Amino acid sequence: MATDSLILFIDMNSFFASCEQQHNYYLRNRPVAVCVYPGKYGCVIAPSIEAKKFGVKTGMRLNEAVKLCPDLIPLETNPARYREIHIGVMKILRSYCEEVYPKSIDEAIVDLSTYRHVYKDPLKLAKEIKQRIRKEVGDYLKCSIGLAPNAFLAKLATDLQKPDGLVTIFPENIDEVLSKLQLTDLPGIANGLSAQLISAGIKTPLELRYASPDKLRAALKSVVGIYWHQRLNFKEADLDFHEYKTMQAMRQVSAAQRQNLQTMENLMVSLCMMLEKRMVGQGVYCKDVSVFINYEENKIWSDKIHCGTPLQDGTKILDSIKSRMKKFRETHHSDSLINQHITAMGITVSRFVPADSLVLDLFEDNVKQDKLRQTVYNLKDKFGYDKLLKAIELNDDNIMSDVIGFGSVKDMYDKSNPTVV
Ligand SMILES: [Mg+2]
Repeated sequence: MATDSLILFIDMNSFFASCEQQHNYYLRNRPVAVCVYPGKYGCVIAPSIEAKKFGVKTGMRLNEAVKLCPDLIPLETNPARYREIHIGVMKILRSYCEEVYPKSIDEAIVDLSTYRHVYKDPLKLAKEIKQRIRKEVGDYLKCSIGLAPNAFLAKLATDLQKPDGLVTIFPENIDEVLSKLQLTDLPGIANGLSAQLISAGIKTPLELRYASPDKLRAALKSVVGIYWHQRLNFKEADLDFHEYKTMQAMRQVSAAQRQNLQTMENLMVSLCMMLEKRMVGQGVYCKDVSVFINYEENKIWSDKIHCGTPLQDGTKILDSIKSRMKKFRETHHSDSLINQHITAMGITVSRFVPADSLVLDLFEDNVKQDKLRQTVYNLKDKFGYDKLLKAIELNDDNIMSDVIGFGSVKDMYDKSNPTVV
């Protein structure tokens, strides 16, 4: 049991609505509903704490919501405002530790495991974070914080007290906490999964905690059963960013390949596509791209690119590298960096952002493209990688399959890491 790990989960309460109330003083303490559009049948996406008391819920149509709460104030979404507040909150969290992983616009996981000696009293730290958010980001903003040895239990802890909660789940109180809950109170257990568990004789969260991993695997007919055992027994089943702090794709260039400039251009393309595939598989975008090219006589060119917008698309990674190469050539009046002296090249991507934290891009067009990319990869997995290639990869697909052999295949095919929802 990893007794040393400590996760702080933070969930901003009624986030969009609270941002609006933060911005406009006269909306405070009043029932507010943030909607996609404020027409009669506009869909409520975020009721304020006050509106929730009247039974207004996410997903309702405005006309239904107003029946429950006649004084409801509908507002249109203001993504830029929410993004700005999100950034302010993340900045506070990152002032305490590096391991901050936004899970969505209003939730983040803070892995304090290696900071246990720095912050000896995590409850005090949690209170300080709440206070700083009110003071430095907005005095109307509330959050629920959960503390536990793993991400799942920390998330569950935030669900238990809203708004403005602070709940811990540790070995000494977990049985008491679970004894008050139903299976569907656990994040990630909806009716379907609950029914599967009940028919296997596991009727409560406590029974789930004490069921053996084998029994759970059999009950759910999947390795997911084992994850449920781990989650309720203080092991980490959800936080896997550690493994993916960087992803690298590199290639040695043979003497024969070196003779053909197009082959080397293609190699660079295939490295970018390789990384794109791995990032899609992990559901992450990168904020940093590093590139190196080795030449004969131990010469090397390398550069690091900080991406303004997190990247996942291989063609965009390639474009950013190419524009750096062009800049280098222009400032140094040098020949092309892609030349017949190359012996190896590699690209590393890092500083990952989970795809779900880019949720606000729902309001922008590029999500459509990202969904398309995900679909393309699903198809590739289904029909085999070589059957469906982007036009840019079509120059030489032999190189493509060649490169795959050099990368880590684990992250390409490991689809079995569910995240906390
Ligand atoms: Mg929230």
